[in-house]
Amino acid sequence: MSNPGIYSLNSAHVAQATDEWLSKRGVAKRDIAELVLFLQKDYFPGLTIEDCIVHVDAVLSKREVQNAVLTGIQLDLLAEEGKLIPPLQDMIKHDEGLYGCDEILALSIVNVYGSIGFTNFGYVDKVKPGILVRLNSKTDGEIHTFLDDIVGAIAASAASRIAHRKQAEREGVTTPPLD
Ligand SMILES: [Mg+2]
Repeated sequence: MSNPGIYSLNSAHVAQATDEWLSKRGVAKRDIAELVLFLQKDYFPGLTIEDCIVHVDAVLSKREVQNAVLTGIQLDLLAEEGKLIPPLQDMIKHDEGLYGCDEILALSIVNVYGSIGFTNFGYVDKVKPGILVRLNSKTDGEIHTFLDDIVGAIAASAASRIAHRKQAEREGVTTPPLD
């Protein structure tokens, strides 16, 4: 029995909240998987969207990732509601060029998956394919200053996970790298 005076958190609640908030903010796992396919299709021609969804799910199952998703979405929501302190409110609302904490939070996701994740993150941030176009459109009244980087980081991490697993498969390694 847990002691009511001691803080404890059910990990399943964090995972569930992450899923729910991504979808409330208009991001489906398939949208992220499409970014992964975009990143990896040239390297692994047989790769399918279903394969990519499996890797996106694996990335999303990690607490570091869930923490970043929830923190980023919370800050975006507070900015939409005008509840941040000035001048942070205006910086996040307008996705100010010199404000880079959104990218830094997203790097906490990429850090789990090594240098391939890192380079792919920079690449999707530059090219902004698929769902990143909508998240960056700034026309629908929603603010996704943090979420766009987080979605890019999840896709980049899943791409890295694929690259490491495919290499391990080629080498006949039975214990897959990068959970
Ligand atoms: Mg951003």
